[in-house]
Order: sequence, then structure tokens, then C-alpha cells
Amino acid sequence: MRKIEMVDLKSQYQKIKPAIDIGIQEVIDNASFIAGKPVQDFAIELAAYAGVKNVIPCANGTDALQIAMMALDLQPGDEVITPSYTYFATVEVIALLKCVPVFVDVNPETFTIDAAEIEKAISSKTKVIVPVHLYGQAADMEPILALALKHNIAVVEDNAQAIGGDYIFKSGKSMKNGSMALISTTSFFPSKNLGCYGDGGAIFTNDDQLALKLKMIANHGQRVKYYHDLIGCNSRLDTIQASILRVKLQHLDEYCLARRVAADYYDKAFANHPKIKTPVRASYANHVYHQYTIILSDDVNRQALIDYLQQKEIPTMLYYPLACHKQKAFEKGARIVGNLKNTEWLSPRVLSLPIHTEMDEEQLNHITSSVLEFVK
Ligand SMILES: *Cc1c(COP(=O)(O)O)cnc(C)c1O
Repeated sequence: MRKIEMVDLKSQYQKIKPAIDIGIQEVIDNASFIAGKPVQDFAIELAAYAGVKNVIPCANGTDALQIAMMALDLQPGDEVITPSYTYFATVEVIALLKCVPVFVDVNPETFTIDAAEIEKAISSKTKVIVPVHLYGQAADMEPILALALKHNIAVVEDNAQAIGGDYIFKSGKSMKNGSMALISTTSFFPSKNLGCYGDGGAIFTNDDQLALKLKMIANHGQRVKYYHDLIGCNSRLDTIQASILRVKLQHLDEYCLARRVAADYYDKAFANHPKIKTPVRASYANHVYHQYTIILSDDVNRQALIDYLQQKEIPTMLYYPLACHKQKAFEKGARIVGNLKNTEWLSPRVLSLPIHTEMDEEQLNHITSSVLEFVK
């Protein structure tokens, strides 16, 4: 059996090696390492894929979030509503800009921000809502967008984990994740669903004026070289990464499908198990399984299961062992709405199993039968 990885980027590369290698070699031959043509080409291709007018590539997903917030002219003390059940980066940038993260609970079925809880969190200082499309499934955007419109609050989608997935509105209309909010952000960290071979990120918007501003902020606040209209930062996607992403974008739908096929296998193997709750597929979303995260019942010793699987050479991960509001860095400076009971309930019970584009049945069978051996 091939070695089981959380993400098998080596096997994935072998299948696309010729195109990747040619692209990288071209960048080197042209010495167009920064802002080369593949960067603009990729931005245009990704915009077309996602159904947005503007894509602004940048250095990573955390920068993408920070640049998005900078473009919204947030003032110190302004509040940004976000789930605590997310990767730290979502929240970190809020604090970096001297704004206040306002932590809201998630829906325990979908792991994403609970729209009803958002309404309770809105104050006169609320400027932004940041729903996070966690594990590959969209947050329930329709009520969030309605709420934001009603209260005149901006929405920034953190789409680092769900690129390629879709959201389906009640009308039946479907939109790509990352195309619904005023601004959306994503990450091309290697393990993400569209990953490069280093760091990378991008910002999406349909607003042309805002796109110009986002672009300037990512580039030292300049529109004309050496004339700086704004305080910005230096956040670029380098050309080699863009050339890799151009190749991988062509495979993104196929990669999403491969993840779904693996998830189907897991779902079937664990169906109706009294001690394993498989990830819920929301009726409003097309899940792209950045992670396959199960919830264990209280009588399963999670650490013992992790150790058991480790012995069988099955890696697992905890996304995330400690919610943001419990982090030492947020002992002060955040506001908590309600008791975050779902967030606190989930953290000690979740377990993410290997899922990627290269899984075969032998591996999936080994993983599911090993889990079932332990969780009787
Ligand atoms: C990965 C990730 C980020 C940050 O992306 P980087 O490219 O690692 O900076 C932000 N938010 C979420 C939800 C993520 O998963």
C-alpha cells in the first residue's frame, strides 16, 4: 500500500509534472520572477473560474485577509464578527489592525458561523462580518448577506478552505464560494484545495474601485511606481507560484471531485455508526472536503484512537485543538457573544482523517477498517 499522507502532494505532482516543470523553467528562462506574465494570466483565469470581476494575487491567505480589512478603512476599536472555530489567521489580522474580534458560535452540524448568532453580536461598532467556509463547505451565506445589507456591514468571505465549492441560494441560483461577498480571500498554501509550491493567496471582488485600492495596498500603496498614495504593504504572488497555479487551476474541478469520492467512501463506511458522526452536507452547499472531519462520541478516547491509527501508519490531525477565544493571545482584546457552547463542544471531539486527491480504495479501506476496529 502507498504511504498514507494527510495530503499527498508528491503523487499529485507526478501526474502533472511535465506541465509544471515547463512552466517553472519558462519563468527561470525569462527571469520574470516578480510580476511576470503568468501572474496576470492566472488572475484572469481564476476570476473567470470563480465568476468574479477582479482577482488580486498576493503573498498568502493571511495577507489577503489583512489587505481586505485595510481596504475597508477600519478604525481602531471597530468590531469584526467572526467564528472562534477557525484557523487563527482569520482573527489575528483583525487584532493586528487594532480592531476587536467578536466571536460568535458555529452551527454544530456544519462547523460554520451561525447566522442567528451574528444578529445578536451586531453593535454600533460592527464594520465587518467574516464567515469562514470551513473544511470545504460554505457558511450559510444567504442569511448572512441579508443581515449585512440590513445593517450596512461589509462581508469578507474567508475562502481559504473551500475554493471550487458552491453555494446554492433558495432561488436555486448557485454561486462559487468566494464570489458572493464584497471581498473574498483565499490561500494557496500547498495543502489547500488549490495549493502552490510555497506561499500564495488572492483577494476577490466584483467592485472595480475596491479592486484598485486592494491592488494598491498590496503594492506599497502605489499605483504609479514610486508614488505612494496610501500606506500599504508588500504582498506579491511570485511568478513561479503563479505558473504552478495556472496548471493546477485546470485540474481544480477534478481535484474537488476526487475529494468528494473519498468522502463518499468514508460516509458509507461510517454510516449510522453510533459513535462516529460524519460531516453533514448542507443542502445549500457543494462540499469540496478540504478536510474530512468526524465527531466522536463522548465514550471514544480520542487520543487513544489517534495513537492506534498512528501505529497503523495513518496520520490524523486536530483542526483545531483550541478555539481562538481560548488562545492565550486572545486573553484580552476580543469580545465573546453568548457562551460559544458548540465551539467548545466540538474542539475536544473532532478528528480529521486523511483526504486528498490521490487516495485509493486500499488506503481508504485501511483507514476506515482501522477506525472501526478501535471505535467498536
Ligand atoms: C490557511 C488559512 C488561512 C491563511 O492562509 P495562509 O496562506 O496560510 O496565510 C486563513 N484562513 C483559513 C480558514 C485558513 O485555513
